[in-house]
Amino acid sequence: MQGEKAIVNRLPKCEKVIPIWLVFLNNLPTLGMFVLGMLIIGQFNTLAGVGYIIYAVFSIIWFWARICTQCHQYATKACPCGYGVISAMIFKKKQNKNFADVFRRHISILFPVWFIPPILSVYLLVKGFSLYLFLATILFSTLAFILIPLISKIVSCKDCTNKAQCPWMKKKEIRIIDKDFVNTTQKIE
Ligand code: SF4
Repeated sequence: MQGEKAIVNRLPKCEKVIPIWLVFLNNLPTLGMFVLGMLIIGQFNTLAGVGYIIYAVFSIIWFWARICTQCHQYATKACPCGYGVISAMIFKKKQNKNFADVFRRHISILFPVWFIPPILSVYLLVKGFSLYLFLATILFSTLAFILIPLISKIVSCKDCTNKAQCPWMKKKEIRIIDKDFVNTTQKIE
């Protein structure tokens, strides 16, 4: 495992340049999800809705600080979200950590943003049905649990050279990339 970590840390900086439409494709559904989440929670309490959006922004900044700074797409235009560039403008690069470990340790910061609105909505809908809340929740869930993961898997992360390190991707894909990954490492040694 130690050897694997050493290899991971030598993964070269990605030279790919992501088209701007892909950056929008990645960020617009997330933005829509945040707004819907705020509206859903706002049905319970306006201040809680505002708190949700503040937390959502905070969680993204945390992601830039803790995860993107360990990614080989940090400070490159290869990052499909554009986060790699933003992270580099605010935070210094961190070294010598295994990306998969870092990702697993910090990704839970995003969980409340994804799960609190639908859970709260079910509670509110059971208490008293509202078509507005129902539709907002359907839309939120479609973005959060179908569209955003689908965009990642079939477009954004499809050709990422960091797939072997990313717990987000399927095991089958990780095995395929591992072969390329070893080849890349041998080339730079
Ligand atoms: S690929 Fe993911 S972890 Fe890497 S810089 Fe982009 S958003 Fe951050």
